[in-house]
Amino acid sequence: MKQRIWVLGAGQLGAMLKHAGMPLALDVYPVDIDESTAPNLNTNDLVTAEREQWPATLVTKALAQHPRFINQSVFGRLADRKTQKELIDSLGLATAPWRNVVNNISANELRDQLGEAVLLKRRTGGYDGRGQHWLRTDDDQVPDDWQGEAIAEQAIKFDEEISLVGVRNSNGECVFYPLTLNLHLNGILYSSIAPLARLQHLQTQAENMLGKLLNALDYVGVMAMETFRVGDKLLINELAPRVHNSGHWTQAGASISQFEYHLRAIANMPTPAPQVTGQNVMINLIGTEYNPEWRNLSCARVYWYGKEVRTGRKVGHINLVSNNITELRETLILLGDLLPEKFYAEAIEWSLGSLAAN
Ligand code: ATP
Ligand code: MG
Repeated sequence: MKQRIWVLGAGQLGAMLKHAGMPLALDVYPVDIDESTAPNLNTNDLVTAEREQWPATLVTKALAQHPRFINQSVFGRLADRKTQKELIDSLGLATAPWRNVVNNISANELRDQLGEAVLLKRRTGGYDGRGQHWLRTDDDQVPDDWQGEAIAEQAIKFDEEISLVGVRNSNGECVFYPLTLNLHLNGILYSSIAPLARLQHLQTQAENMLGKLLNALDYVGVMAMETFRVGDKLLINELAPRVHNSGHWTQAGASISQFEYHLRAIANMPTPAPQVTGQNVMINLIGTEYNPEWRNLSCARVYWYGKEVRTGRKVGHINLVSNNITELRETLILLGDLLPEKFYAEAIEWSLGSLAAN
């Protein structure tokens, strides 16, 4: 019988894991956490998750109890920004200076401790820039329902945002993709670019950081580390114990995608180093209707998630890959004309500029 792998969560990451499982002869079943019937789990099945946190439902309780839920204990620890930061600190890794937002702490105390501008982040549940609150002026306050529920971070004046996606297998061997340069607008990822020669000198630093975390957690599977580059130093922003949006380019631009690596690692298959093919740019489709004309673009692969389109919601992405930088640039410009002006004009310009600066 084929190995069955259940995925807690049935969003786009689960769907892409399922897709990647087919050529590996793995039966991957993403499960909606609100299903009214529990999955029919066998002892030999494996369980993984596409999200780091979940409410207790019939489905999540059944999956979480399974003895072969890989990395079970890691999710809670990383899903809470406070325990995630404590882990990073305990390993002596660089991260944005932070404080726990204890009850009754004032905005001014936090700004005295951390600096003029402070970013509050809810300990759990935030994503795509949601669950953030800035303290910049004397009038800004810690919202009542954030007391005891948030951490406070120093505002980092970073040069750019870079992520590292890597995988650790059950023998403890780690492999990593080249660093990915990311553009976030309004707290949400718009564009990712990899590989970039000018980031190569930071690769070892990043791999040492993520490798240390993966080993400390005895983690198996794909993890992403988001960092801020300040000069030649990387500060960890946050960790995601799962496949990650900034690794989506690997579907088109690497011999083994992040989705395939995750499945290989948890199913105890080999995880050889990836071959990266060409220059990659990934553009997220955010709050925009499907446009059939995207399919006319050369060197572009469109991934549509089939979700209802809402403002600020990720509904798909486009991977552009080519060895011909001129073709890639021309395609990006054409793509820009097929996307809304708001945010995309900036995202396309940033992508073109980042390719030119390499
Ligand atoms: P994701 O969707 O990646 O999970 P998120 O909303 O959970 O993101 P963060 O990654 O912590 O949260 O923050 C989103 C973005 O906000 C970052 O990518 C960065 O652009 C900005 N940001 C976060 N922390 C800081 C900081 N300490 N100083 C300056 N900017 C920050
Ligand atoms: Mg983030």
